[in-house]
Amino acid sequence: MKELRHVNKYFSKYKWRLLIGLLITILAKFLALKIPQIVGDSLNIVEDYQDGTVTNLEDVKHQLLINVLLIIGVAILSGFFTFLMRQTIIVTSRLIEFDLKNEIYQQYQRLSLNFYKKNRTGDLMNRISEDVSKVRMYVGPAVMYSINMIVLLVVGFTQMMSIDVKLTMYTLIPFPLLSISIFVLSKVIHKRSTIVQQYLSKLTTFNQEFFSGINVVKSYGIEASIIKDFDKIADESKEKNIHLQKANALFFPLMVFLIGISNLLVLYVGGQLYIENEIQIGTIIEFMLYVNILTWPVAVVGWVTSMVQQAEASQARINEFLQQVPEIQNTNTSSTELKGNVTFKDVTFTYDDTNITALKNINISVKSGETIAILGKTGSGKSTIIELISRLYDTKIGTILLDDTPIREANLDAVRSQIGFVPQDPFLFSETIEDNIKFGKQDATEEEIIAAAKNADVHKNIIDFPNGYKTVLGERGVTLSGGQKQRVSIARAIIKKPKILIFDDCLSAVDTETEEKILSNLERISKNITTFIISHRISSAKNADKIIVLDQGKIIQQGTHNQLIAIEGYYKDLYDQQLLEKEI
Ligand code: ADP
Ligand code: MG
Repeated sequence: MKELRHVNKYFSKYKWRLLIGLLITILAKFLALKIPQIVGDSLNIVEDYQDGTVTNLEDVKHQLLINVLLIIGVAILSGFFTFLMRQTIIVTSRLIEFDLKNEIYQQYQRLSLNFYKKNRTGDLMNRISEDVSKVRMYVGPAVMYSINMIVLLVVGFTQMMSIDVKLTMYTLIPFPLLSISIFVLSKVIHKRSTIVQQYLSKLTTFNQEFFSGINVVKSYGIEASIIKDFDKIADESKEKNIHLQKANALFFPLMVFLIGISNLLVLYVGGQLYIENEIQIGTIIEFMLYVNILTWPVAVVGWVTSMVQQAEASQARINEFLQQVPEIQNTNTSSTELKGNVTFKDVTFTYDDTNITALKNINISVKSGETIAILGKTGSGKSTIIELISRLYDTKIGTILLDDTPIREANLDAVRSQIGFVPQDPFLFSETIEDNIKFGKQDATEEEIIAAAKNADVHKNIIDFPNGYKTVLGERGVTLSGGQKQRVSIARAIIKKPKILIFDDCLSAVDTETEEKILSNLERISKNITTFIISHRISSAKNADKIIVLDQGKIIQQGTHNQLIAIEGYYKDLYDQQLLEKEI
């Protein structure tokens, strides 16, 4: 139960609700155990009349009527309290489930990119849904059934003992057996259901990947082989499910069988005691009713145990994520205004997971308001530079300064709020275009949105849609072309009015004419903004204040356009080649 200690804080948060739940449970079960007593009593009254111990028939009838009314009243009350018991304990478990989900979600938000690289999406989703619901079974039903069982056993056992010790002992013989066999069965069920869960996970992951890659699947015409793969997993999953159901199917027959034995024992032993005149006939019936009331809580012991075991395993998986310390730590909470100076001093950067050294000994110095272009082949380290400026990763070797502060010491939230970043493959959410742009500035006015869209040269495209800025994108909405997506995400970055603007190869999918327009708009609005433009095209770079050429993580050339076309090298080759393409 080590892992489950984590939820104790929630128990104490809701301790009053739980305490009330406990009292209500005791009351409900106490009442439920009254019924056998009244039934037994009624039979005894009839027997007494038959014996001639009591002679007044009217009295007997009157007493029986009262007993019937009592049974009805007690049953209704007990039912009402059972309802209240669920209302308190189960509702509390839902509240704890909600809190736990929020706790995990907040942790997900804190964790760094590396964490998301190492863990699969399906797994992240599973822990916040499946695993949390397993834990809920512990904080709700498991707790409720345990209280239930303890109250019933203590109260029931005391009542039975007070009537007849010998009969009680015989009646309870099968109970340990019942408990043990159900515990064993629960273990088997647990093991098999874990396997079923794994197959379910497999199926989900398989489908998720297949849906995401649907256009590849269709265009390569490999539906048939995908179906075959799916069939295989689905078939295995079915087999495991059938295997599980076989164990499940044993549960009730086993229980009924053991209750049956208990009832037979009551009848046999009770009958003998009756013949010997030690007990009355009503007592036999009373005991039989006790057996039936007590069976369920005892049977549930095994079930509760396996619920707790599953919750423990799930909480372990949850704790694993909760205990991860985010790699990127924000130690500074003071508000910092960036001026926009960016300096790299001898920065060497290696990705932990692949051990690829993406940057080697990089020195860059960009002044506030300057535009810097970074060129280089794919894999040369361009995006890595950008990721380091946004502090998606921390450098171990070398220093990055924002103005005069090392980036590690600056307020991360403040820094990120002043950086406008357009990634290489922009991501738009399945919301309206307007909302997607407003992502950069939550309280943007309509004029600001339109101005940003105009500067990103996407306004005309947007108003062509029937719903204009209210057009919904994504899964059930309009799909934008690559170039349109890039421009919407440029608008999103511009509207932020950042101090540092970063374009990671985000003009690749627009034609040179549009590129020209966007760049000249940028020049107009980015007087005080430090701008990083990553590109493959000379046309994007030529007006920059400074151009850097990267190759295999090293700076191989730097200077202005005019300086670089005057010397032999990567930049001039690219220039000649693109000039030639243009002429053709
Ligand atoms: P570019 O943007 O110039 O194409 P990148 O900065 O993306 O280059 O990549 C530089 C090198 O680092 C490449 O060899 C790439 O494989 C590697 N790399 C990039 N991103 C990661 C990552 N998240 N994890 C591990 N290696 C990476
Ligand atoms: Mg890149």
